[in-house]
Amino acid sequence: MGKRVNRTEVSEIAMVRIERLMAMSREQASHGDIDLARRYVDIARRISMRTRTKIPKEHIYCKNCFTPMTPGTFRVRLGTHRIIMVCAECGTVKRIPYVKEQRR
Ligand SMILES: [Zn+2]
Repeated sequence: MGKRVNRTEVSEIAMVRIERLMAMSREQASHGDIDLARRYVDIARRISMRTRTKIPKEHIYCKNCFTPMTPGTFRVRLGTHRIIMVCAECGTVKRIPYVKEQRR
């Protein structure tokens, strides 16, 4: 019974950190501090990669500039079968299919 941390524990800890960082990121973005918001997303992504823990889908951010999605940072339109989101910071378009799979 040493102090070794197994994989499940690693991802649990990583998930808690990712959730917290993404929440902080959105908060900063909604206050207009996009740079700080992006930094939090960047840290969350690093943790995600290092621990091979996926960032949950509900945390939407721009894959190009890491701006988290908040009402102010993305323009949202509804397409036929998807939601089209345009990053207001860099113009990257993100399309999210809806009605499709519903997990959990
Ligand atoms: Zn962007």
